[in-house]
This record gives sequence, C-alpha cells and structure tokens, in this order.
Amino acid sequence: MNFAKGSLGWIEVVCGPMFSGKSEELIRRLRRAEIARQRVQIFKPALDDRYCDDHIVSHSELRIRSVPVKDAAQLESRLDLRTEVIGIDEAQFLGAELVDVVVRLADLGKRIVIAGLDTDYLGRPFHPMPELLAVADEITKTLAICMQCGNPAKHTQRLVASEDLIVVGAAGMYEARCRRCFEPNLAKQEVERAAAKA
Ligand code: ADP
Ligand code: ZN
Repeated sequence: MNFAKGSLGWIEVVCGPMFSGKSEELIRRLRRAEIARQRVQIFKPALDDRYCDDHIVSHSELRIRSVPVKDAAQLESRLDLRTEVIGIDEAQFLGAELVDVVVRLADLGKRIVIAGLDTDYLGRPFHPMPELLAVADEITKTLAICMQCGNPAKHTQRLVASEDLIVVGAAGMYEARCRRCFEPNLAKQEVERAAAKA
C-alpha cells in the first residue's frame, strides 16, 4: 500500500496454503512500516506456538516479535491506541469476531495487515478468512510449490491421522499440494487405517 494519504484505514489480507510465504510477506510489510517509523503492533493466536511464543517465525526462519492472543477481544484489549499498523498472523484461528474488530479498527484509521490459511485440510474455506477477504481493501493470494510434482500449490495436505480441524504443526505433518495432487481423503483414510489396526 503506497498511495493512501494520511490515516485512511486500510485492510490487507495475504492468504494461501501452508509454506506459501504468508508469514514472510507479512513480516516484509511490517518491517517496511517500522522502517518508515510507524507504530506497529503484531499479534498471533496463542495456540500457534510451534516455534516460539513471542515471535512470528516463517518456515524460512525470518522472525518478528509478536504478542500472543487467544481471540479477537484479547487482541483489541492489548491494542495501544497510538498504533498505526496492526499485523495479524494465522488469522484463521482467531474466530468470527475478528471481522468486526478489524473493520472497526480500519474505520478508526488503522492499517491492518492480516495473513491466514484460506482453506483447511479438506480444501474447505477456513473461517473467518472468507469474511476477511470480503471486507479487505487489498488481497494477495500466495502459492507454494507442490511437493509431489512441482506445480503451483494452492492446497495444504495433511499427512497425519486426525479429524480435528486444528492440528498445529509443520514439516512432516503437512505439505503443499497442487489441485491435481491434493488428496483430501488421505487424513481420513489414515484415521480409518489406525482404527482398523486397534
Ligand atoms: P506460510 O506462512 O505461508 O506457511 P512461510 O512464510 O512461513 O509460509 O514460509 C515460506 C517458506 O517456506 C519459503 O520461502 C520456503 O523457504 C519454505 N518452503 C518449504 N516448503 C515449501 C514449499 N512446498 N513451497 C514453497 N516454499 C516452501
Ligand atoms: Zn502436484
């Protein structure tokens, strides 16, 4: 966002599958805001502590400090009123209330940069990302590389047995897959296979 003058509120959403560079892009945008001497605050869901509790860490080891929050209400309560730019990673874990909070903050003149998974391990829209995309001023979709065939990958393939929507993890538990190589039933088959063995 290079053209908005003054404190025009603004919502940016970066979405795509795991390993597509959402955190890298979020960190890049927030670093630029810091270089421009804007007041930046960064939040991530408390449940995503796969690397580190007080930083966002990309799969390529870029990092930026962040505040863990359990939901949108806690995010709002931790917000410093002087903050100009608000970064949010893994927004798909912060609940439906995030949408109203984000719109309210944009109406107050804040720039909000949001990253999150657009679809879940079955390829379904991952709420509240669809709603955030609808209220956004600017949208970026990122693609990963399919680990099976090397094509652009839009899906997050779960490799481990679990029917839970949220299973936090990274390498070994998930991989990026293109539309053709995506096997949404793989996780389900793994569950059935494990049950049959038991
Ligand atoms: P996201 O936040 O979307 O999960 P990250 O920003 O954390 O993504 O990580 C992106 C980085 O992950 C890439 O720059 C690359 O180093 C690494 N990476 C690992 N697997 C893949 C893949 N299949 N496709 C693209 N990048 C990958
Ligand atoms: Zn593929």
